[in-house]
Amino acid sequence: YAAKVAGTRVEVYAPEPENGRHRRLVLAAQMESAIADGAITLWYQPKCDARTGKPVGVEALVRWIHPIYGLVSPAEILPVAERTGLMRRLTDHLVETALRQQAAWRADGLDLTVAVNITARDLLDERLPSIVQNLLTVTGGLPDRLTLEITESGIMRDLDRCLTVLDGLAAVGVKLSIDDFGTGYSSLAYLERLPVSEVKIDQSFVRRLADPGHNTTVLQSTIQMSHALGLSVVAEGVETAPVLVALTALGVDIIQGYHLAYPMPAVEIAPWGLSADRALPRTLPAGAAPL
Ligand code: C2E
Ligand code: MG
Ligand code: MG
Ligand code: MG
Repeated sequence: YAAKVAGTRVEVYAPEPENGRHRRLVLAAQMESAIADGAITLWYQPKCDARTGKPVGVEALVRWIHPIYGLVSPAEILPVAERTGLMRRLTDHLVETALRQQAAWRADGLDLTVAVNITARDLLDERLPSIVQNLLTVTGGLPDRLTLEITESGIMRDLDRCLTVLDGLAAVGVKLSIDDFGTGYSSLAYLERLPVSEVKIDQSFVRRLADPGHNTTVLQSTIQMSHALGLSVVAEGVETAPVLVALTALGVDIIQGYHLAYPMPAVEIAPWGLSADRALPRTLPAGAAPL
């Protein structure tokens, strides 16, 4: 069993067996009912202001709490949804789940922007903007408090078709974020054409900051260009205080990662948000490990 451990959060993913064919067939057969009965659900990871440490929102991440396999990860869920033709259904269900959760938090006095990940396939469906509009209406959600995260590689697969849907979503008023930025081919030239308000720098760039003698030129110009275009810059995969400090010095606006919080079930978000001391270090504490 592979475990990701830090603080109080332990995510133990049941490993996919060497020959996972049987397991994939089981998951495929059960997916529709797992969506309906809530076994497929969302966990949430805080996104925090880099300067104040205040949580500005959460990213919703799909989890399948399976009666036999335990916690099943997106890496397994998404390909099964794709192959079974259930992706559309899954995405709609997750957007609705996230919006209902957001309304529940709001009723408890917790005002959080919620970010939901959507796939390249979702972006090829021209009904997506009206579906999202409907879900906002049904749940009483505010469009500008919903962010949709789209991977750069997903957009670039069919840029022109995606642009139609992206413009439709922007017209609905939802915020768009480019996920895993820097891994695709688009780079900065396309940013101007896309109706996005946020870029999330890919974890690989963030991780590299921990390497001795790392070079920050690409990161620096990405951040500067994004700011020049009026975009907010998120760094994800922030695992240590030194990396956090380096990112803050580079001007990153929002921080996300295990150093601050793990993805957690919805019920844990309010206690986390209210109790944790999230004053972020601007400088390294004495004796901290060098980068
Ligand atoms: P992503 O959107 O880039 O999400 C970030 C991933 O990094 C998440 O993995 C998160 O748990 C993990 N992560 C967060 N902080 C850290 C950190 O400090 N260090 C490290 N090593 N990892 C960190 P997860 O939940 O396994 O999701 C993987 C990918 O699956 C996501 O990448 C996203 O592309 C996709 N995904 C997740 N949930 C959904 C969903 O509901 N719908 C769709 N379409 N895709 C989803
Ligand atoms: Mg994401
Ligand atoms: Mg990402
Ligand atoms: Mg990713």
